[in-house]
Amino acid sequence: MARYIIIDSYECNGCGSCVEICPEVFALNEEGDKALLLDSEAAITEKVEKAAAYCPQKCIEFD
Ligand code: SF4
Repeated sequence: MARYIIIDSYECNGCGSCVEICPEVFALNEEGDKALLLDSEAAITEKVEKAAAYCPQKCIEFD
């Protein structure tokens, strides 16, 4: 079964680390204070896992 990436927007502090690590999947919103997914069905690649591991808020999750 496919797993999906989830960003807990409440916890996200907009640090941009995930965007730096994996710009194919993550971007910052217009205000630049929250991360969002460019593709809600993006595959969970190694880079995505790395972005999740380095997220200081631990708010990138997989479901
Ligand atoms: S690394 Fe985490 S806290 Fe930083 S912008 Fe991405 S989701 Fe938000």
